[in-house]
This record gives sequence, structure tokens and C-alpha cells, in this order.
Amino acid sequence: MTSQNLPTPKRGTFVERAAKKPGKLPPRHISDMTLAERKEAVTALGVPGFRADQLSRQWFGRLNDDPTTWTDLNGSARETIQQELLPDLLEPVRTLSCDNGTTVKQVWRLHDGSLVESVLMRYPNRVTMCVSSQAGCAMNCPFCATGQAGLTRNLSTAEIVEQVLAGSRMLARGEVAGGPGRVSNVVLMGMGEPMANYNRVIKALRMLTTEAPEGLGMSARGITVSTVGLVPRMRQLATEGLPFTLAVSLHAPDDELRDELVPINNRFPVAEVLDAAWEYAAKTNRRVSIEYAMIKDINDQRERAEHLGRLLKGNLVHVNLIPLNPTPGSKWTASRPEDEVAFVAALERHGVPVTVRDTRGREIDGACGQLAATTS
Ligand code: SAH
Repeated sequence: MTSQNLPTPKRGTFVERAAKKPGKLPPRHISDMTLAERKEAVTALGVPGFRADQLSRQWFGRLNDDPTTWTDLNGSARETIQQELLPDLLEPVRTLSCDNGTTVKQVWRLHDGSLVESVLMRYPNRVTMCVSSQAGCAMNCPFCATGQAGLTRNLSTAEIVEQVLAGSRMLARGEVAGGPGRVSNVVLMGMGEPMANYNRVIKALRMLTTEAPEGLGMSARGITVSTVGLVPRMRQLATEGLPFTLAVSLHAPDDELRDELVPINNRFPVAEVLDAAWEYAAKTNRRVSIEYAMIKDINDQRERAEHLGRLLKGNLVHVNLIPLNPTPGSKWTASRPEDEVAFVAALERHGVPVTVRDTRGREIDGACGQLAATTS
């Protein structure tokens, strides 16, 4: 399959960009706000509070992002709202697709010039969007492309929500191969460490799961939060009262190797991370995903499979093995097929459910760990 460069849709002029320094959060947007906050915001602008319901119905309910067509609002209310509460947050820079148009990666330029990426993946029964939670990442995992340039900044709530909405609009308009559809799943597995941008991420996830038209009405079960294992935040997530799926990027069963692959392990070692994961499973009754990138001769040995099996067995858990997507200049590569098979078999002998993740989007640099948002 060949990747293709699709024409990028034109949007309004992006006036804010040049004026701001990289690293600054964007101006406020209705996707940052609960319905009550939208009411407050419009009222403060001299627009009656009920207009917040109307604009929410347009934006979140009908996925209509063109205020000039909102005929239920009068012209002056539309103008004020557009100017004050609907700044352009995501400027499309590039759209790449593969898998016959069912995988679509988008590169976005934010108001301060930062670049982030999101990936839409359509499967027969679901559409999953992989979205970014930060511009860059501070976690510095040596096998991940995003980590190499460090962290630029946290994304705002609206910048996270709008990535999902952009995909939702494309699907609603029938612009993704397979006809009109809806986003059913969201995974926070794009750029960034979601638990390091906790409050904004949680607000975004609440917006996704709140009934339309206040939010997008998605099921919390369809939303996966992936973390390197920031233990205090994992424990906090368990108290939010929403059954998100938690994914933990383990990648090694032993601290010695994990210290190298996931450097934050120095602070939160394997045993503590798994303790927090089991607490999450117990509180939410949700099966925790363990992410494990299969790296040839680094973490894919038989003894590590046995060790992992012993650590995980008997818990509410599912292992996702991800064949390593090598990043440019990386000395590491994906495991041999026979080692992958043996690893799966060892986990299965311990009664640990395991699947091997597909590598959707690989040829457009849209697969796990490839999101570096370069436009060259
Ligand atoms: N910071 C979060 C979410 C982002 S990455 C986290 O670490 O969980 C989503 C998943 O892709 C993580 O499990 C991450 O370790 C994995 N990943 C990163 N780089 C990869 C690569 N080159 N090949 C395969 N998986 C990779």
C-alpha cells in the first residue's frame, strides 16, 4: 500500500500564529468549557445564556463548525461567539492516508507554531482516534520518536477535544473511506504523556463522555488513557468515577531494563506501577492493558516473558504486544517472528490474555511511537 499526500482542507486565516511564542497555551474556546461555563462566557459577552445551548447543539450535536450557517442564532450573536469563543486552534498542515483511506494521519499546527498529530483508524466495527495530549513529551523513552525532542507544552482541553471533533466531522461528512460514520473509540496514545497534563486531559475526557450537545456522548469504556506509569495520577484516575480503560506502558518486567526503556521507572518502579494498576482494576472493574513494545534481543527473551507472566497472572489484565516501530536512527528493531510467537505462548501458559497489536499507519509514520510531527 502506498501512502498519498491528500490536499489539506483550507480554513480561515490563522492570525494568531506569528504573534505568539511557542509554549503558550491558546486562547479560550468553547471546547474548553462545560455547558455552564459556556453560558457564563456568552453572558459576559452580552449574549443571552440560552445561546450557549444553541451553539453547543451546532458544535457538538451537529458537528457543524461553520457559524455562518447557524441560522438559529442571530447574526450579531454568531459574530461575537465566533470572534471571542471559537479561535482556530488546529490548523491542518498535512493529511496523510493509507490502508485504502481507512487510516488517516493529520498533522496540526497550533496557535504558537507547535505541531501535533492525530490518527484516525477505521475498522469494520469501530473507528478509533489516537490523539495527542502534549506537544512533545518529557518522558524521554529512547525508542519513541516523540520523546526525542522533549516537551514543548501541554495541550489545552480544547486542543485535545478538537482533534476528536476534527475526525468526527470528517467521518460525518463521509470524507473517510467506508462512508459516513462516528468516532467510537479514543486512545490517548498520540504525542505526550496524558497523566502529566492531568487536569486538562480529564476535562477533555469528561467532555467526550458527556451527553450531546454539552459533549460528544461517547462511552468511557471506549476511551483509553495510556501512561508510562505516573503512580499518583493513576491512583487519582481511579477516583474519577468514569470507567476509562487504563493502559500502562511497561515494556520490561524488571527494573534494570525498564530504567533504560522508560526512564521515569527510576521514580516509579515496576512493582509500584503494577500496584497502582491493580488498584485501578479493582476500583473500576476494568481490565488494565499492559503495553509491551517487542524489541529484538532487548526485552523479548524467554526469561522476560516468564517473568512478565509471573507478575501479571491472576490479575484483571490484557497484554498488548506492539512490534517495535523503529524510529529514525534507532539501533533497535522489532523482534523476530519466532521470538514473538514464543513470548505470546509463555504468557498464555501463565493464563495471561495477550494480543499482538497491528501496525496501522506505519507507512505514513502514524504508528505507535512514530509521531514526531515533522513537516519536512
Ligand atoms: N506517554 C504515553 C502515551 C503515548 S505512546 C505512554 O507512554 O503510554 C503510546 C504507546 O506507544 C506507548 O505504549 C509507547 O510506549 C508505545 N511506543 C512508543 N514508541 C514506540 C515504538 N517506536 N514502537 C512501538 N511502540 C511504541
